[in-house]
Amino acid sequence: MQARTPALRWYVEGLRFECQRCGACCTGEPGYVWVTDEETQTIAQFLGISLGEFGKKYLRRPGSHDSLIELPDGRCIFYTGNSCQIYAVRPSQCRTFPFWQTVVASSESWQRCQKACPGVGKGKLFSAKEIEQILQTDMRENRRPKLYPR
Ligand code: SF4
Ligand code: SF4
Repeated sequence: MQARTPALRWYVEGLRFECQRCGACCTGEPGYVWVTDEETQTIAQFLGISLGEFGKKYLRRPGSHDSLIELPDGRCIFYTGNSCQIYAVRPSQCRTFPFWQTVVASSESWQRCQKACPGVGKGKLFSAKEIEQILQTDMRENRRPKLYPR
């Protein structure tokens, strides 16, 4: 079967998204924020600490991949004072949301995401081409396991 081109996608007219900074995706239900080795280096450098210290303070390893620690109340360890403390260098998983394969797979999955994220469907219009580029980035950078993400 021929691969679907962006022009054939259901979101050919583009999709709107603008984070409303509600914090819902950084708190609440249990989940994982996967980080690659490159990302841990970047974040540790941003925080001015060694990789060893970063690993001890901020990482857990549920299986074969590293994930940021989740606090007992469900918050990501970097979510304090109603904002992300590493926003400039947040992991690709956070940067590419909500333009994930699983979310843009269909209009139904996009609408499901809209119920959990008030930024979906609002603000900036991303063209189909821009969405494809973000999906490519997500696939390239996010080699996360197929466990339920945050
Ligand atoms: S749930 Fe959506 S609007 Fe709220 S912080 Fe996350 S991305 Fe932003
Ligand atoms: S790294 Fe930042 S954006 Fe990502 S889940 Fe944690 S607090 Fe939220």
